[in-house]
Amino acid sequence: MHELGHSLVAKGFGIPVREIILLPIGGMAQMSKKPKTPGQELLIAVVGPLVNVAIAFGLFGVGAVWLGSEGMLNAFSGLADSAPSLQTMWVMLTASNVMLAVFNMLPALPMDGGRVLRSVLSMGLGPSKATAIAAVVARVLAVAMLLFSLFTGQLMLGLIALFVFFGANAEAREEKMSGALEHVTVAQAINPRAVTFAPDTTMADAIQWLVRNPQPAFAVLHDRRLVGVVTRRELVTAAQEKGPYAYVAAAMKREVPTIAATVPLTEARTQMNAAESPYIAVVSGEEFLGLITEQELAQQAAMADVFARFGRPSGDRFARQ
Ligand SMILES: [Zn+2]
Repeated sequence: MHELGHSLVAKGFGIPVREIILLPIGGMAQMSKKPKTPGQELLIAVVGPLVNVAIAFGLFGVGAVWLGSEGMLNAFSGLADSAPSLQTMWVMLTASNVMLAVFNMLPALPMDGGRVLRSVLSMGLGPSKATAIAAVVARVLAVAMLLFSLFTGQLMLGLIALFVFFGANAEAREEKMSGALEHVTVAQAINPRAVTFAPDTTMADAIQWLVRNPQPAFAVLHDRRLVGVVTRRELVTAAQEKGPYAYVAAAMKREVPTIAATVPLTEARTQMNAAESPYIAVVSGEEFLGLITEQELAQQAAMADVFARFGRPSGDRFARQ
């Protein structure tokens, strides 16, 4: 219900939720887009713990009617030596909802409290600074949690500490990448020398190109119009199954997500994630301009980082494409 709370608010903001994953150390609602504003992130994050607060209040109400205030105190204090019963179930449900609400509000990214912290900081400092600060806070808390779990022997807490530590790293990396890709357009990232195939290119020919070219995916064009895309792995698998004289058309995927050339590269990344596609085709009307893959994203992010730190060299002949 906690994760459903996150999911419903996200959906209300038009953010698709792909799935909810429940693990022994906690749950995760997998969203295929980032919230548009800090305010949206704040609301999505805060509603999960609020669900637990609401459940705890409800259970307190039930307990008050059912057991009375003295009965509730007895149930809590007698938990350790009591046999399984409806009362012990009520105590544990109530206590775990209170604990879930409190624990999730620790300001440790990627936990809910960390997202709240990041979104509030972000309103004043912008997303990149806010994420960097929230990630530092999260790593400090994670180390403290890990030490505490080692001294007290609480394995679960130790696992959560590791999850927080690496989760905070991933959030920081993710924010750095999307910040870098904000100022590059899709058109600037296209490789104009990329190799393309025709539908009747044979596997034998395609494999020859594949070993001489590091492209992760190849567009298949017919009269300069995109008819499909084939990845390296799909080519190799198809060649092994169908032999060297089969056509590339038999290996390609015909459903290809597309994007306009003028939008920022972050948008290409968001749409690739949403479509769970390793590539997106850049088009201008009917005309195919090129493919964006993980490779283009990673390289553009690396270059943006270099230019941000050292400045863009003058006379850069690729600066205005
Ligand atoms: Zn949550």
